Amino acid sequence: MGLMFRQSESGLSIEGANPLEDQVITTKVDDLVNWGRRFSLFQYPFVTACCGMEYMSVNAPQHDLARFGCEVPRFSPRQSDLLMVVGTVTHKNAPALKRVYEQMTEPKWVLAFGACASTGGFYDNYATVPGIDHIIPVDVYVPGCPPRPEQVMDGILLLMEKIKNGRAVIR
Ligand code: SF4
Repeated sequence: MGLMFRQSESGLSIEGANPLEDQVITTKVDDLVNWGRRFSLFQYPFVTACCGMEYMSVNAPQHDLARFGCEVPRFSPRQSDLLMVVGTVTHKNAPALKRVYEQMTEPKWVLAFGACASTGGFYDNYATVPGIDHIIPVDVYVPGCPPRPEQVMDGILLLMEKIKNGRAVIR
């Protein structure tokens, strides 16, 4: 379509251009829903061991998780969509972890916080689960014993990228 420029008292206007172009943003449903989801993660901290000290540090004001919209912990699985498994998981508390995961509604994501949650860490014995992915699916593994807050934030950003590229509506 040809465009025509017209000079008037109120300035230069373009004839033939879409009059709604500056007022309407078009997007896809997936992009809109995923945008909302990734900037409003509600974490459920499943804390079992020494990584818990670093978890408190990650949530301290100087790291400002509010920048990513995930600074609010919820202590009910039904109000959470990000399960953070922090520390060593034993076979004895594995059923509790599974139950918490199952009580969370979809969509939900899991972050393995530290070496123990990711692989069992240096506990190579009959009592320790060698990584929580033997019990529940994991979206992001954060290494370290314990991981530094920067590593955890990096893991959260990775997860946000995963949510951004995911399919919002199950077809
Ligand atoms: S990864 Fe290290 S700091 Fe974290 S729970 Fe295991 S032993 Fe403790």
